Amino acid sequence: MINTPDSKISNQIKCSICRADIKDRHTLYQSSLKLGVICKICQEQFSEDDIEMIVNMFFAFGGYFGQFDKSEFSIDELIVEFAEQLDAGNSTFHLQNVKMWHKILTHGIAPKEFLKELSMYVDQGFP
Ligand SMILES: [Zn+2]
Repeated sequence: MINTPDSKISNQIKCSICRADIKDRHTLYQSSLKLGVICKICQEQFSEDDIEMIVNMFFAFGGYFGQFDKSEFSIDELIVEFAEQLDAGNSTFHLQNVKMWHKILTHGIAPKEFLKELSMYVDQGFP
């Protein structure tokens, strides 16, 4: 049985980064790889390079910005895990780096926010 698609659903456009509904067509942003559209909030929050990186990452690995609770994110754990995986020889630096960014972004942490936290972490000295 073929139904006419519900117009509300078929017209629903979601942000490729945070999955917010995009209602105002004037705020559409298209990445150069044409993988999706970006809402105005994400467009203001991220640089163009960030947007490319983030869209590509979610396209490849799934998930979206802010998928998980930010409060469950621990930079200590992230760094320990990063080092452990590399030490164990399970992963290349590049792959580990990609996984790390995926984790950061799915927890709703913007790249510049993470880099700021990381620099504070480094200033305090690694354990
Ligand atoms: Zn968005």
